Amino acid sequence: MRWWLISVLHLLRCVRLRSCTKRGRSRLPLWLRELWAYMKLLVWSLYFNSLTDSDVVFDSVFEPVFWTVDYITRWFGLVFVCLVVILTSSILLIAYTILLPMVFHTYSTAWIAWHVCYGHWNLVMIVFHYYKATKTSPGYPPTVKNDIPFVSVCKRCIIPKPARTHHCGICNRCILKMDHHCPWLNNCVGQFNHRYFFSFCVFMTLGCAYCSISGRNLFLDAYNALERFKHLDVEKQGIPVTGMGLLLGILLSGQTKDPTPVPPYTFKDRMIHKSIIYMWVLTSTVAVALGALTIWHAVLIARGETSIEKHINGKETERLAKQGKVYRNPHNHGRLNNWKMFFGVEKTSHWVTRVLLPSVHAPHSDGLTWDLPVKKEMIPV
Ligand SMILES: [Zn+2]
Ligand SMILES: [Zn+2]
Repeated sequence: MRWWLISVLHLLRCVRLRSCTKRGRSRLPLWLRELWAYMKLLVWSLYFNSLTDSDVVFDSVFEPVFWTVDYITRWFGLVFVCLVVILTSSILLIAYTILLPMVFHTYSTAWIAWHVCYGHWNLVMIVFHYYKATKTSPGYPPTVKNDIPFVSVCKRCIIPKPARTHHCGICNRCILKMDHHCPWLNNCVGQFNHRYFFSFCVFMTLGCAYCSISGRNLFLDAYNALERFKHLDVEKQGIPVTGMGLLLGILLSGQTKDPTPVPPYTFKDRMIHKSIIYMWVLTSTVAVALGALTIWHAVLIARGETSIEKHINGKETERLAKQGKVYRNPHNHGRLNNWKMFFGVEKTSHWVTRVLLPSVHAPHSDGLTWDLPVKKEMIPV
């Protein structure tokens, strides 16, 4: 009994001492401090784990911003697809209603045959590849248990990721051999539609360059006519023509005034000239911008890497260079072989039937396993 009483007294003394010490450190009442400690523990228990670092905290804080950007991009995808269809249709409308009748009336038979054959082949290739690029699934890794080799686990989908697979925040799923998410297609570019995407870029660039080059003289004539009649209108109103309008008029027509009698300039003439100018400006701009993008993708394909792997391989090259080693892309099979694998060319005739004509053949790999000419430990993940 005596030893029990001594123990209780000792415990009470300890509690009192502890309370005095704490009270010395903080003036807050004990219940408030306990509540504060409980709340801290509660918050920590919600997100803390041994892998938490500043990057995870940064990602968590900015997650609503990422969600918003992804949502807007997803929504704008539909708008961009409509824009591509409307702009392409407007060029076709001008080509069929204005240019083609002009070609039939003024060109020789050989030139007519060239414009009709080339123009329609290019159009078929553009429409076919754009449709296939938007409608073909880029390829997704299996979600059920299987024996495929994987290099990591997606933290968002919680599924194994095969080599070259990456998570797309806009599609909200993992994509096999992901290249990038294209808002102009409203689709991810991956293993099964990469060829359609690249062919679309090539044929759209060719089509725009064809319109721009063959329509250059028509554009100059239309521009001169518009400027000439604009000057006549202004002069009739007694306003002097100065500045950029006069400079362009001199540069393009070579004279400030036209001494020849001027035929009546109807609304239809004005609309035709404006349509030709619109077509030339749009096709020239797209030819330059899309041409640059197409060259960039061609360089990547020749190296056997995707847009994402370009960054990963660059970092890996720097890391190994610091160790005095040289990094080699494990998916690079040589320039010509990379092109053959990309287009699915297995024999010479395939360059025509599978590259220059519409073709729906499957890609070289299933996107899950890859033939590797170099060591496995050098695969970028
Ligand atoms: Zn994922
Ligand atoms: Zn995507």
